[in-house]
Amino acid sequence: MRVHVADHPLVAHKLTTLRDRRTDSPTFRRLAEELVTLLAYEATRDVRTVPFEVQTPVAPATGVRLAQPRPLVVPILRAGLGMLEGMVRLLPTAEVGFLGMVRDESTLVATTYADRLPEDLADRQVYVLDPMLATGGTLVAAVELLLARGAHDVTAICLLAAPEGLAHLRDTFGGRDVSVSVVTAGLDHNLNEKGYIVPGLGDAGDRLYGVV
Ligand code: URA
Repeated sequence: MRVHVADHPLVAHKLTTLRDRRTDSPTFRRLAEELVTLLAYEATRDVRTVPFEVQTPVAPATGVRLAQPRPLVVPILRAGLGMLEGMVRLLPTAEVGFLGMVRDESTLVATTYADRLPEDLADRQVYVLDPMLATGGTLVAAVELLLARGAHDVTAICLLAAPEGLAHLRDTFGGRDVSVSVVTAGLDHNLNEKGYIVPGLGDAGDRLYGVV
């Protein structure tokens, strides 16, 4: 399993402001989008392309364009929605599917409450947007669903990851014949007893959209 922790001063700067408890929701949303665009650049390093010929004003040139079928971007509701604009800014021709998952705060078990994804994901490169990779329960459940539909190549983009969540993903998918990658802006220390990432940034959904 490939894990990439972005090592860039702009990523670190934006992440620090996201962590700051004084950052209000509008600023948090804007920064989360900007951060995702930077992470998307790394996450799409292996996006499939095909050769493509164009005529410049001067001469023919051989370049590339994105291969078919189009990549699929899957924000996990609710908090993943705050990452969507930043992702499609870089990948405007991607298709977007939605997965609603909620974690029971006492058992930390994730259940699916909404599924708007294509039935057949064979040959699709899938980019899952989930801001906080904490226990990994939600992301493991989401990736299992995608693999069950035929996907073989799944990249998760997370603002922050905890070692426990990465270990959970590695234990689940490490030995399997699938490509599962994680691209994140930061790898934090641990989880607390409530399953929150430490130091983290708090509840990403609440920081993005306010407490419901
Ligand atoms: N979900 C969040 O929003 N924050 C955490 O720290 C862990 C899970």
